[in-house]
Amino acid sequence: MEKKKNVSRREALKKLGMVTLGGAVLPKMLLSQNETKGISNLIRRQKAPNIIILFADDLGYGDLSCYGHPTIQTPNLDRMAAEGVKLSQFCVGASVCTPSRAALLTGRLPVRYGMAGGVIFPNTKWGLPTKEITIASALKTKGYATGCFGKWHLGNQSPYLPTDHGFDYFYGIPYSDDMSPKTNPTGLGAQYFPPIPLMRNDKVIEQPVSLDTLGPKIHTEAIKFIHEHRSQPFFLYFPYTNPHNPPHPSKEFRGKSLRGLYGDAVQEVDWSVGEMLKDLKKLHLEEDTFVFFTSDNGPWMYWKEDGGSAGMLRGQKATGWEGGFREPAIAWWPGHIRKGVLSGAIASSMDLFTTALSLAGVEVPKDRIIDGVNLMPLLTGEKQTVRDELFYYVNNKLFAVRKGPWKLHFHTKAKWSSRIENHGGQPWLFNLDKDPGEKYNLTRRSVEYHVHNPYTKEINNILQVVKKHLATLKKGN
Ligand code: MG
Repeated sequence: MEKKKNVSRREALKKLGMVTLGGAVLPKMLLSQNETKGISNLIRRQKAPNIIILFADDLGYGDLSCYGHPTIQTPNLDRMAAEGVKLSQFCVGASVCTPSRAALLTGRLPVRYGMAGGVIFPNTKWGLPTKEITIASALKTKGYATGCFGKWHLGNQSPYLPTDHGFDYFYGIPYSDDMSPKTNPTGLGAQYFPPIPLMRNDKVIEQPVSLDTLGPKIHTEAIKFIHEHRSQPFFLYFPYTNPHNPPHPSKEFRGKSLRGLYGDAVQEVDWSVGEMLKDLKKLHLEEDTFVFFTSDNGPWMYWKEDGGSAGMLRGQKATGWEGGFREPAIAWWPGHIRKGVLSGAIASSMDLFTTALSLAGVEVPKDRIIDGVNLMPLLTGEKQTVRDELFYYVNNKLFAVRKGPWKLHFHTKAKWSSRIENHGGQPWLFNLDKDPGEKYNLTRRSVEYHVHNPYTKEINNILQVVKKHLATLKKGN
């Protein structure tokens, strides 16, 4: 008797002129190559998407051409905005590097876990507490590959390194590039610090790092990470080292903008973003990858031409003004979010935590207060707003609170080293819809005061918001 031959399901279907795609059985003849690719993409999209967060350093609200800069050209970011959603009222969680990064990665105000007090220096012994959940550690629970490329600035040694906080891989510098006598001959304490190290995971691989070649090296490593993990969900966090002072464009970009070294550094970031999006398209990953571009805090105007611009906004880095907190912000995910849309909705960098977890299918932690909300309903157009409150901490002090168009400043200061003013205990009130530059504090002499009399009503509303917020801090989380 002839032995019955075992035929696999795939072989049997092939004999019948059928193919399988994602579990579905389809007649091969009916599918063109493009249709097959389209169906493959559709099936892949049912999986959790890749997530990329591109985070410039000290880039101002007015520093991209799509946000109105006249002499810095950022065609790639402009195209990203044309293909996605550009936000005009997106604020970060703090107006200096360390707490802003903590807020982004944890979705929580840094004042909740001791990270609001300032920036980390090379001799700092503390860092992001290990009990904090980062986007990376949350996404690891769903099998994401996780990589951090660039400037970390949340702790210089274990247990505070990226690899202690959910990242499989780290390539970059542990703190700011000005914290060394070589890169910052003007001082500001840098003369006491060692040369800047370049790290791979938890090991120093070059010291002093060459800032002339740092940008392209980090970019290359990030692209390599995408290629290596193209067939599994990945989270790529790319905190650029540029255009933080000293701006350090690599050789190919020097002299390319009309805006000096600072403009050259921004244009190098733009180039890197463009190459990355091009690569995603080449790998057919564009519909499987949510990409978000923003910056950690506003421009450092102390450095004059070597610092950035907040455009029409008042203030700068380390202040509670919009210029310190509000950033260019662009979301990109072809086929999934709106295309070519400008949204004036209020949003926060902390929202990226909740958005990333929701996209990955990870439950948002319930054992702590999360300040971020999911941005997807806003980005898809399902909702016009997702939040109407923002808290502006400078160090551990609550400088200002926003509710709807109203922003109330309890304290102000003009720059990092300025004295804190409290205006004799009379908070300053601005309507940011009418006065985005925070120029006209509403007083009893203003027309709006007499016509709408918002002063007492809006201040009382915001004081209620503050009371509720402070109660959440007293709970200790
Ligand atoms: Mg910064």
